[in-house]
Amino acid sequence: MDLSLPNRTIMQRAFYNKDHNFEGLFYIGVRTTGIFCRPSCPARKPKKENIEFFYSTREALLQGFRPCKVCHPLNKMGDTPDWLQPLLDEIQEHPDIRMKDSDLRQRSLEPNRVRRWFKKHHGITFQAFLRAQKISRAFGQIRYGDKVIEAAYDSGYESLSGFTESFKKTTGFSPVKSSQQQVIMVTRIATPLGQMLAAASEKGICLLEFTDRRMLERQLKKLKTDLKAELLPGNSPYFKLLNQQLNEYFKGKRTEFDLPLVMTGTAFQKKVWKELQGIPYGTTRSYGEQAEQLGQKEAVRAVARANGDNKIAIIIPCHRVIGANGKLVGYGGGLWRKQYLLNLEIQKKFLKTNEEKSLKQPPAREHFRNSFQT
Ligand SMILES: [Zn+2]
Repeated sequence: MDLSLPNRTIMQRAFYNKDHNFEGLFYIGVRTTGIFCRPSCPARKPKKENIEFFYSTREALLQGFRPCKVCHPLNKMGDTPDWLQPLLDEIQEHPDIRMKDSDLRQRSLEPNRVRRWFKKHHGITFQAFLRAQKISRAFGQIRYGDKVIEAAYDSGYESLSGFTESFKKTTGFSPVKSSQQQVIMVTRIATPLGQMLAAASEKGICLLEFTDRRMLERQLKKLKTDLKAELLPGNSPYFKLLNQQLNEYFKGKRTEFDLPLVMTGTAFQKKVWKELQGIPYGTTRSYGEQAEQLGQKEAVRAVARANGDNKIAIIIPCHRVIGANGKLVGYGGGLWRKQYLLNLEIQKKFLKTNEEKSLKQPPAREHFRNSFQT
């Protein structure tokens, strides 16, 4: 992804010189504040070591950054839609706000117009944008929170009332009430496909999902009831492992995950998820084939639904299941992510088999076409 950006030195110079010529080419995320800016942002510039570059607003949003209030990176330069500005301001002030179609209409906004604007300008749906803002704020406060909170955080969660209170306010989840209660630790993980939310109990990873996913809130609530536990932002020894293995996976250096998983769901769901784990890296299977494998040929729909309820994306590879006609069909994290994951796996697998067979032929186009279609 970095390849499509101008080189870092040039971007840095442009950013520190507030150069308007680089408008729209890239955006700058400030790690210490969790905010992202245009290159020409007139606000005081952060230190070099705290910035990162993005080629699109979408990428910055998916990595959990919030738009700067000074330079408004969500508005196209010289093309500020007056009708949308009040809404953007409102969301900025209250990232935890809910915005249904009726709420938009109350503000004299046509919901379809709002949706189209987000899709067109940021390649992300309006609701996905709201979810990303909400989660990123909850975690932004934690990751980038002030020193006092950080210190309290290091000393254990009992002293974290203010901190968990803000988490509750932004996510709607209660902070830990007593130390007897089971705790599910939650953290954010940056991946090439955007920010993910990971959760771990004492026994292992129990959730891994993209932060803009529609089901995320419901899944977190479900997790809480299933494990009779409270959610708390923080660290778990499993996160380090998870980070490391995801990193290797995205670099094409890992084909299997070796992590303790905690699956919560019905017996049928667990059976389906176990079966999913048996689909080898770089291969795909149709929902029908999967149902057959489970010995429940007639249960294709139920199997597809259980796939959709998978809470541990990528590791339980529901992305490897495609439609009977080779079409990608549904994926909770969005079809573009499914496509990316399959591309990654199939290409790596092909290169590897090629190496092993020491074939000199480049990958045949047929191979890709048969594996999945868009
Ligand atoms: Zn700015």
